Amino acid sequence: MMDKINTSVLIIYTGGTIGMKQNPQTGALSPFNFQQIEDEVPELSKFGFNLHTISFEPPIDSSDITPDFWSKLALLIGENYDRYDGFVVLHGTDTMSFTASALSFMLEGLGKPVVLTGSQLPIGMLRTDGKENLISAVEIAAAQKNGQPMVPEVTIFFENRLYRGNRTTKHNAEHFNAFRSDNYPYLAEAGITIKYNFPFIHYATDSQELRVHTELNPNIGVIKLFPGIQPELVRSIINTKGLQAVVLETYGSGNSLSQPWFLELVGQATRNGIVMLNVTQCKAGSVDMDKYENGLVLKNIGVVSGFDITFEAAVAKLMFLMGKGLRGDNLACELTKSISGEITLH
Ligand code: ASP
Repeated sequence: MMDKINTSVLIIYTGGTIGMKQNPQTGALSPFNFQQIEDEVPELSKFGFNLHTISFEPPIDSSDITPDFWSKLALLIGENYDRYDGFVVLHGTDTMSFTASALSFMLEGLGKPVVLTGSQLPIGMLRTDGKENLISAVEIAAAQKNGQPMVPEVTIFFENRLYRGNRTTKHNAEHFNAFRSDNYPYLAEAGITIKYNFPFIHYATDSQELRVHTELNPNIGVIKLFPGIQPELVRSIINTKGLQAVVLETYGSGNSLSQPWFLELVGQATRNGIVMLNVTQCKAGSVDMDKYENGLVLKNIGVVSGFDITFEAAVAKLMFLMGKGLRGDNLACELTKSISGEITLH
């Protein structure tokens, strides 16, 4: 039985639609004072939990998120870690998967729930999805079994499902079920009760201390393949000053064009120590560069497999590992390991 009085959850409001209001003049949405969220959801007090709230000032549209913001957020969780049983991060949906991925790497040894959520409609609107998302996220952040947190991971709760954060992608700009996790099963489903998918939740075997990493290095690039891609474009990205790694968004199981100019440019980059990470443009499935000749050519010039990583997690993983000072072969080697369940290794 949960001791409600002694259960404490910290709600961190970063911004996003959940706390936005419509400007009567322009009709556009922009963030408002967080205090109004508590006014809008009086149901929260019925939990009987010890709920505290902190708001980022000013709250932002998550399209403005930066790696610096992730560092501040990770630090905030770290500073409050011992005081709370769980954390709810209210965040815009646009970049929520990037933030969840980054936090999953930055919060090493996490042993408590960090649940990100937001909404498609502002919380003050009659048909808002924000209330249910917030209430369920708080319930999950507080949930314990035998004194242990039910989901000690960085997760995203949206509509009626809880996902491992670094496996998610925002796939719908209009529907209430805005997120998907195509390569990893959901961790819980909220119906009449919240049903947990225990075999897929990560529980550390030994008790670890939380270690917050705040150094991120954003010197990465992205090359998304498309039929007709021009050498000038690829060359200009690869020659970007300070560039240390590139997410190469390929076709299908990690295939690319095999034209000599392209392989020459990519090969030159890897020889110069720029790490090229192969991430498929497909939403589900994995990179397998041994499957087709057009994948093998990439492997042969030193392109690294991203396996079934999402684009969002690939970006965050590169920034995180580069923030630790890893470069070239060392970086390539660490990319093939799972840090916090972001890739499936067979
Ligand atoms: N543009 C908003 C944001 O990401 C959308 C949302 O909150 O859903 O902050």
